[in-house]
Amino acid sequence: MSFASDIVSRTKWGARDPKETETMQTPVKIVFIHHTAGKPCTTPEEDIKTVKGIQNFHMDERKWADIGYNFLVNNSGQVFEARGWDRVGAHTKGWNAASVAFSVIGNFNESNPDQRAIKAVLGMIQLGVDKGKISNDYKLYGHRDVGATDCPGKNLYEIIKKWKHYSEEKPTK
Ligand SMILES: [Zn+2]
Repeated sequence: MSFASDIVSRTKWGARDPKETETMQTPVKIVFIHHTAGKPCTTPEEDIKTVKGIQNFHMDERKWADIGYNFLVNNSGQVFEARGWDRVGAHTKGWNAASVAFSVIGNFNESNPDQRAIKAVLGMIQLGVDKGKISNDYKLYGHRDVGATDCPGKNLYEIIKKWKHYSEEKPTK
């Protein structure tokens, strides 16, 4: 699958080493969708700067071990490896060890996600299922379904609510 080879690896975007790592039990049964609530990117140089900025913010301000999400996706559909498939993230309080999180770069209270970003997220979820990292019968949620946040922004939330695996029922571990 050529899609997988297009993922920008940590090495490629120049990620800092994590302060610590925790291995995730896979396949996970839950997928969370987030937005970064920041500016969208329009050029590859800007993308790398943005992803590095998010990692610095998560490690230096939030004091997390690494960039919080498992993967990030931008508006041109480019995917960036964050913690990846096999490491517990820091993105959805109470659910980190039970889920994979994809975060779309931008603020979707204000703007609409690009169709390429949507395709990339769905492609990544399918890749996770194919790789045995996500259960076939996974349930999908927005961050706001389990936390006091408007993440992933109202416009992105309206889109994911129409996806087949979106669940109205609250998740269980
Ligand atoms: Zn979020």
